[in-house]
Amino acid sequence: MADYVLAIDQGTTSSRAIVFDHSGRIVSSGQLEHEQIFPKAGWVEHNAEQIWTNVREVVGLALTRGNLAHTDLAAIGITNQRETAVVWDKNTGKPVYNAIVWQDTRTQAIVDELGGSEGAEKYKSIVGLPLATYFSGPKVKWILDNVEGAREAAERGDLLFGNTDTWVLWNMTGGPEGGVHVTDVTNASRTMLMDLDTLSWREDIAADMGIPMSMLPEIRSSSEVYGQGRVRGLVPGVPIAGILGDQQAATFGQACFEVGTAKNTYGTGNFMLLNTGTEKVPSKNGLLTTVCYKIGDAPQVYALEGSIAVTGSLIQWLRDNLGMFEDAPDVEWLARKVEDNGGAYFVPAFSGLFAPYWRPDARGALVGLTRYVNRNHIARAALEAVAYQTREVVDAMKLDSGVQLTELKVDGGMVQNELLMQFQADQLGVDVVRPKVAETTALGAAYAAGIAVGFWKGEEDVTANWAEDKRWSPAMAEDERERLYRSWKKAVSKTFDWVDADVL
Ligand code: ADP
Repeated sequence: MADYVLAIDQGTTSSRAIVFDHSGRIVSSGQLEHEQIFPKAGWVEHNAEQIWTNVREVVGLALTRGNLAHTDLAAIGITNQRETAVVWDKNTGKPVYNAIVWQDTRTQAIVDELGGSEGAEKYKSIVGLPLATYFSGPKVKWILDNVEGAREAAERGDLLFGNTDTWVLWNMTGGPEGGVHVTDVTNASRTMLMDLDTLSWREDIAADMGIPMSMLPEIRSSSEVYGQGRVRGLVPGVPIAGILGDQQAATFGQACFEVGTAKNTYGTGNFMLLNTGTEKVPSKNGLLTTVCYKIGDAPQVYALEGSIAVTGSLIQWLRDNLGMFEDAPDVEWLARKVEDNGGAYFVPAFSGLFAPYWRPDARGALVGLTRYVNRNHIARAALEAVAYQTREVVDAMKLDSGVQLTELKVDGGMVQNELLMQFQADQLGVDVVRPKVAETTALGAAYAAGIAVGFWKGEEDVTANWAEDKRWSPAMAEDERERLYRSWKKAVSKTFDWVDADVL
């Protein structure tokens, strides 16, 4: 009997494999970090072959630790860091360049040129996104423009593109020997190349970016059988039956199925998604319109998304670049040594600012410094920055959708940080709620796959399995809450207009 579903979570900092049982509980898991490659200021790359090797290893770890065989698996779901672009040769299976990661800003000149006189809004009514370095399409153009021989190979039909979902699926299903070249609607909606209404590729936009249509994967729903594990792999014959971009997967795993329900994930960056149902809501306040999920033949569900580039990675930066502590969770211990931020505000505009500003010209700033400020205040300012940025996104969602949030479901690595969670509730003025299974991203992908093969009946099983772990309620006085936020806004204004043609 196949009693379990396996989820592969190919994230920005690591790849995870998690086995879930029918009640949505974790049975076993494996996790491996991969190298973050920073060749120049603003450039961020991953080695796609290392990612694939790690995925295989973590699947092996999860099965071994659970004492399971592939025959115990009813299905496999994939979730992934979105927008990170891989281009590879379909004959050899070799990537032609490192994966260009979503945070990478090297495509700014390409983006400016594509926008021309129409600017960032050029494709927004079709794809739901402003033209920005964040999305996959311009990254593919960069690879074709800059890697020797790549454009010719692409035009011959030898090269394939995919976000890491597609890269992992293609390899799992056989690679050069019959690998399936498919993506799902949520990943496709992050390329700038998909029409949000028809859910098909826009040949005109692909042509503007010089991307041959033969490179693009087939777009499918988020929950259906795409293929089976290859014969010589670890999971031969097991149906791979769900794909959701990581943030959409977390929304699914958090059971945000009603219009107006939202979740916020605190990982490398922060991503808040608000379910807007089968209606596509255009944003006037710096949010993205994106596909939330599509289950088989059912109509697609859309979301408004607030994407914040730097939150958990600011904690990594304090750890790795400043050597302030050994492990990310230690930031809380430092921050608790002081009562407040001491007047310091840290705006982590390391990749410019994403939602709601979309200011590529911004760069990070630590402001409000006096002789009084010490490292503990800076640790606190870093955690507070995560909460202020989230509040900005919540404000934008209210303006765009008219929905007044009544509570916020949270997940991701940073939600173990109790100081941050309390401060978040204080800043938002609503309860912050953490579920029992914090691995909602992997869980969402598992559900999408399990639903496709009948292991779970549908969304109602997801809702029934969701359980609350902990809740934080606002406790800060209104005038203090507003005073802090006003200073934050002032701090943000100090980061604008930093980048010039000769200053990166
Ligand atoms: P991703 O899926 O984007 O790779 P995760 O959800 O695993 O990220 O979260 C990891 C991030 O959370 C890292 O950037 C790390 O710095 C941060 N982090 C993890 N634990 C804590 C903590 N207790 N306090 C603050 N930040 C944390």
